[in-house]
Amino acid sequence: NAPAETRKFEAEVAQVLHLVTHSLYSHKEIFLRELISNASDACDKLRFESIAHPELLAGDGELHIDVSWDEAARTVTVRDNGIGMNRDEVVANIGTIASSGTRRFLEAMSGEQKADARLIGQFGVGFYSAFVVADKVTVVTRRADLPEGEGVKWESDGKGEYSLEPVDAPQRGTSVTLHLKADEDEFLKGWQLKSLIRKYSDHVAFPIRTPVEKDGQPTDEFESTNAASALWTKPKSEISDEDYIGFYKSLGHDFNDPLAWTHNRVEGSQSFTTLLYLPAQPPFDLMMGGRDERKGLKLYIKRVFIMDAAEELLPNYLRFVRGVVDADDLPLNVSREILQQNRNLDRIKSACVKRVLDLIEKLARDEPEKFATFYKAFGNTLKEGVAEDGANRERIAKLLRFASTRGDGAEQTVSLDDYVGRMAVGQDTIWYITADGYAAAAGSPQLEAFKAKGIEVLLMSDRIDEWMVGSLSEYAGKKLRNVAKGELPLDEADKQKQEEATKAAEPLLAKLKELLGDRVGDVKVSARLTDSPSCLALSDYEMAPHLARLLREAGH
Ligand code: ADP
Ligand code: MG
Repeated sequence: NAPAETRKFEAEVAQVLHLVTHSLYSHKEIFLRELISNASDACDKLRFESIAHPELLAGDGELHIDVSWDEAARTVTVRDNGIGMNRDEVVANIGTIASSGTRRFLEAMSGEQKADARLIGQFGVGFYSAFVVADKVTVVTRRADLPEGEGVKWESDGKGEYSLEPVDAPQRGTSVTLHLKADEDEFLKGWQLKSLIRKYSDHVAFPIRTPVEKDGQPTDEFESTNAASALWTKPKSEISDEDYIGFYKSLGHDFNDPLAWTHNRVEGSQSFTTLLYLPAQPPFDLMMGGRDERKGLKLYIKRVFIMDAAEELLPNYLRFVRGVVDADDLPLNVSREILQQNRNLDRIKSACVKRVLDLIEKLARDEPEKFATFYKAFGNTLKEGVAEDGANRERIAKLLRFASTRGDGAEQTVSLDDYVGRMAVGQDTIWYITADGYAAAAGSPQLEAFKAKGIEVLLMSDRIDEWMVGSLSEYAGKKLRNVAKGELPLDEADKQKQEEATKAAEPLLAKLKELLGDRVGDVKVSARLTDSPSCLALSDYEMAPHLARLLREAGH
């Protein structure tokens, strides 16, 4: 057996502890949710491992989480009979910054930003939140595949050091005991703990049990406190909006209510259930352009949690979607590698895409305010789909909104259908301009001729737009073209005027070409302009100047 010892926290852990305890103070009750969520993860892991190794459940097959309190000792304990940890795992998981979420949290929070509870929820800095209310935390744990004598006790006051000690642990799993700070007595009350369990953890899929009270004192008998049902397996008619919202929050990573959801059961040669949510706000990660670790879409097989599988179940451009997919017909012992090649999964994946696009379309049609919220948060992410998902290109394009010379100023509210609907008879092109910002687009001299002729131009100024329209050459049978490129739509009279003007200006053009030399491809008389004397134009296959600049900045 390894000896007892004292170790220092990794420097970063100390930093996280400091940040968490100071910034979470106004939401300190979430420690319970975080500890229960860890306990639930541990039960999920054991249930999954026990598929291949049923003996791991020996003698204790009912996975559950117990929350108890001791008024005299001033402690609250959360214990689970899940997978547990061995000594190395304890060191790796709760002595260092194991979870990449925590590391990103640290990076995010140590900048100018002020830590806020909303963000912390997304990063799942889970375990360390115990120190918001406790001045000492004791963890006793034994991994399910180890004998009783190989338990580990971990203890810390959260100030920089922790101790490790081998102990006997008759029961597998983990107990986390919080020794409450002097002014945290509210958590020593049964009704308070129970109401927090119902508030934050009602939809955890395992029973969360609390002691039966007698004469205001906890007894040794436990009773279940939460709903503990797999919500998605119930018929829709039995699920209230509150249930759906509560379940969304139990998925973690977001304190806010979801914007909308879609819940469906597919029966047939392959049966599965999907419950998919649109968040109301982008997670911190998405705002940072991060896409490495996508969380929040959980794959279950016959109600057994298998893994976070956002990448396997949804294309990248829908990475903001959260929820659950429960498949009946996948092998339970599926690995990520197998999953990636599984044909059945492709069908589930395209069903998920369809459901999400249906949902967004429904918002656009019936709930413009919600749609606007969605679009502000995720419109630019959705645009990636135009390039990424050829099969759904037209559907996605239909959902996009732009600023326009006939729109609401900088507001992005004009759809391609709006544009096409008010095209003049005979117009066969959807015109757009791309620029660095709304003002640059709206003020561009390129628009002069279009204004003079009363032709609407979409004003695109998000970074991704230039790339996105590169994959969208047509919509509803109309070509999309950049106003800066190629020839303008001219009628016969215009053409004649242009020819005459070109003749008249020949000496000037020759002189300008000589002066500008290699710096330009050509100098032409143009019908583009009505007020400005000159502008830069692009040939059909040239890159827009601001994009060329972006690429140069990126070192290409
Ligand atoms: P996260 O849950 O996001 O990974 P936490 O700080 O909440 O981050 O937990 C850190 C890690 O500690 C977990 O990933 C897990 O490996 C381990 N852990 C925490 N609580 C338990 C528990 N009750 N049983 C087993 N492992 C646990
Ligand atoms: Mg956690």
